[in-house]
Amino acid sequence: MIFYRNHDEIELIRHSAQMVSATLTEVSKMLKPGITTLSIDKMAEQFIRDNGGVPSFKGYGGFPFSLCISVNEVVVHGFPSEYELKDGDIISVDCGVYKNGFHGDSAYTFAIGDVKPEVLRLLRITKESLYRGIAQAADNNRVGDISFAVENFCSRENNYGVVRELVGHGVGRQLHEEPQVPNYGRRGDGKKLREGMVIAIEPMINLGVKEVYTKEDGWTVVTKDGKPSAHFEHTTAIRKRAGEPLSTFKNIEEAEQANKELNSSYYLSASTAS
Ligand code: MG
Ligand code: MG
Repeated sequence: MIFYRNHDEIELIRHSAQMVSATLTEVSKMLKPGITTLSIDKMAEQFIRDNGGVPSFKGYGGFPFSLCISVNEVVVHGFPSEYELKDGDIISVDCGVYKNGFHGDSAYTFAIGDVKPEVLRLLRITKESLYRGIAQAADNNRVGDISFAVENFCSRENNYGVVRELVGHGVGRQLHEEPQVPNYGRRGDGKKLREGMVIAIEPMINLGVKEVYTKEDGWTVVTKDGKPSAHFEHTTAIRKRAGEPLSTFKNIEEAEQANKELNSSYYLSASTAS
């Protein structure tokens, strides 16, 4: 069953989604080589609870953490752990917040230090594909219009692997509602999009092949060829001409930029010193 939300309900979803964005901003500020992914999870849980929310993922289907933290070849649903981030890693952080009876859901893939240009390109294209999907999230379009936009850009135009096994979804009183929103498909296929619907659009895109498998922990999804994977997600309201993201990357990107400048001035002063 698809739920249609009124203005006030959408504003509550926006509030939860913005809290996810604020959490991911806090995450981006602490990212650097040497910190453990478990310490990121702990910070995020505290931040969410301090702001009156509940981490949507904790306990969801038995998931034991507040964040999904997926490093390099891990596509999604990675467990936070004692693993220490290192220079050149990428890290996908997926976060959900439940507050006032509604969930928000958003994800972002961060680069740690000096990441290979081909991998940075994967991040850029995956993020761009999310916005191409959002542009199709218009009243009277169909889910397949979003799916096609993402697949066409990532697979046909950029030759990346588009993950099939995991999909976007409606988001509201439940974390995962109908309809499913695949990142592959044909224009004009699938459920009709109507104003009032709120969906999570979330391309999961691999540098190499599209095939993935799940590790023995029953959660961690990794690429079959071991190449890196990126994941960007926005909770999105269907609007007249295009989708409206209810989560935002604005502050995350600013924090990312500040981090980068800090690093380059560090390297600069280190090299002038020597
Ligand atoms: Mg998510
Ligand atoms: Mg989601």
